[in-house]
Order: sequence, then structure tokens, then C-alpha cells
Amino acid sequence: MNSDFYEFIKQQVTMQELTIRNYQEMIDRWVRTTGVRYFSELTNLGILMEEAGEVARVMTRMFGEQSFKEPGKEAGLADELADVLFVVGCIANQTGIDLTAAIDRNMDKKSTRDRLRHRNNPKLTGEQG
Ligand SMILES: [Mg+2]
Repeated sequence: MNSDFYEFIKQQVTMQELTIRNYQEMIDRWVRTTGVRYFSELTNLGILMEEAGEVARVMTRMFGEQSFKEPGKEAGLADELADVLFVVGCIANQTGIDLTAAIDRNMDKKSTRDRLRHRNNPKLTGEQG
């Protein structure tokens, strides 16, 4: 039933058309069928920290000086980032947040309030005295 459900969703929303709103709906249906119910908000906060740590572990080995214990068995950065997005979607759903609207407001803030912030940062422009 669950794989049928996922196939149904994939037919409805091709991955090229996946929107943040579709993704939140997909997560909600997945949680209510395969996942039974949402973990509590605090449990999901813990999971978000775990998944952020997994992103950090992969990136410190890919871009930092740390090495992988078993070369060739590297966990994928893409998969870990997707894990972060999934739990962010869970937290948004269970707290009534429309991430599409939130992202729109957030990008607007970054584009107005913070419009010149980075351009005026000498650490970024290399114009340090
Ligand atoms: Mg993970």
C-alpha cells in the first residue's frame, strides 16, 4: 500500500514539478500512512540536530581535513541534505507553517533589509584596509 501510494504521488507530481507546497503535502501523507503519526515537535528538533550533524560529518570529510574511515563508503551529501529538508517539512507541517509563504517573506527580507549588507562587507569584497 505504501509503495502504491508513493507511486501514485509520483504520478501526480513529477519531480520536475515538485514545489515546496507539494513536498509538504507529500511529507504529510507519508507521515500519516507509512510513518503513522508525527513525532513530537521536540523529537523532530532532536532529529533535525542529528541530520544537521550528519551533513557536518560528510562535509568535514569532503571539504575539510577529516578522512572517511572506509573510502568508497561515503554517505551522500545530497541524501543528508534531503534528510534535513524532510524533518524541516515535518516541523513546518506540525506547527502550521506554510514554507512557501515563509520562504517568500524571508527572501524579501534578505533582498530589502539586507540588500547592501554583503556588498559592504570588506571580508567578502577583499577591500580590507
Ligand atoms: Mg541522515
